[in-house]
Amino acid sequence: MEAGKVSAKRPPALASNEFELIARFCRHLKLSRRTILGPGDDCAIVEPSRWPSVTTIDSTVEGLHFKVDWGTPEQIGARSVLVNLSDIAAMGATPTHCVVNLAVRAGLSDKFLERLYDGLKGAVSDSSMDLVGGNITGADQLAITITVIGELRGQALRRGNARANDEIFVTGTLGDAALGWRILDGKLALAKGKNRNWLIARYLRPSPRIRPGQLLAQIKPAAAAIDVSDGLAQDLGHVLEKSNVGAEIEIDAIPVSRAYCSVSGPNRDLALTGGEDYELLFTIRPGCSQAALSKRLGLSVRRIGRITRRRGLRILHDGKPARIAADSLRGWDQLGDL
Ligand SMILES: [Mg+2]
Repeated sequence: MEAGKVSAKRPPALASNEFELIARFCRHLKLSRRTILGPGDDCAIVEPSRWPSVTTIDSTVEGLHFKVDWGTPEQIGARSVLVNLSDIAAMGATPTHCVVNLAVRAGLSDKFLERLYDGLKGAVSDSSMDLVGGNITGADQLAITITVIGELRGQALRRGNARANDEIFVTGTLGDAALGWRILDGKLALAKGKNRNWLIARYLRPSPRIRPGQLLAQIKPAAAAIDVSDGLAQDLGHVLEKSNVGAEIEIDAIPVSRAYCSVSGPNRDLALTGGEDYELLFTIRPGCSQAALSKRLGLSVRRIGRITRRRGLRILHDGKPARIAADSLRGWDQLGDL
C-alpha cells in the first residue's frame, strides 16, 4: 500500500504538490502497535493477526453519493469511512487497518481536501483503526475509495447462512437516509426542525453496527447478515440468492422512525426500497425473542418476517400480498416471483 505514491495523472489545480499534500494529510496520525510501518514508504507493514483477515473496498463518488455543498468536507470524509465499516460490521468482524485513494477534480482547494481528510481521519480513529497508506490522483469528479482490513474473531456472518424457517430481523430504523438524501437533493421540502435534521444526519452520518455485528457473530449457528446499503428488498434478495431460499416479510413490521412517519405516514415503500441506512439485516434460527435479541445486541432490533423454502420474496400486508408502488419495484427483477 504505497503511502506516498503519485499517479501519472496529476491532480489538477492544486496549490501544493502531491507529496506535500500527503505529508500534510498524514500529520498527527496515531498508529497502534500492530502497525510496524505506516504511511511514507512504498508499502505499510503490519503485524500478522492470529485471526482470519477480512477485506472490503468501497467508493464514495461526487454526483452519485453526495454533492460537495450537502455537508461539510469533514462530513464527506467521515461518511466515506463509515460506509466501508458497515461491510465489516455485516461480517461480524473488527476493523484494524485502512488505505485511502483520493481522486481529486479541478476546483477544490487544498483547504477543502485537508478538512475532508481530517473528517476521514477522525472516523478512522473513532473506530480504532490505523490509516496506513494513501494515494492521490486526478479525476473528473471527487471520489474517495477506501479499503478496510479487519479480523474475524468469531463466526462469519455470511449471506449464505440463511435456512428455511429462520426469522428475519433488522436493526434500528429504515428509510431515513433515503428521505435525508431527497431533502439534500432538493426533491423533498421539509420545514426546518428536529425531523429534518434527523433525516439528513441519518444520510450524512451513518452508524455502522460494528459491535452488534460482533455480538451477533457469537450466536450459534452463525446468522446470515448483510448491511442495508441498497434497500431492504434488494439486500435481502442477495441473502436469499446466496442461501438458495425465499422469504416472506410483513411490510408493516419494518421499523421506521418518528421522523420517517412525519413525512411518509403509514407508507413503508421507502423503508422497503430506500438505501444508505447501513443497518444490519440478519436471519437466525427461531426461538430468540425480539426483546432478548435487542438486549443481547445492545440496540433495538425488529422481527420482520421469515425465511421460506419456496424461492422468491413475498411482501405481505396483514398476511396478504402487499401493494407496492410500481416505481418502488425497480431493480427487483432478480428476486423472482414477487
Ligand atoms: Mg454491504
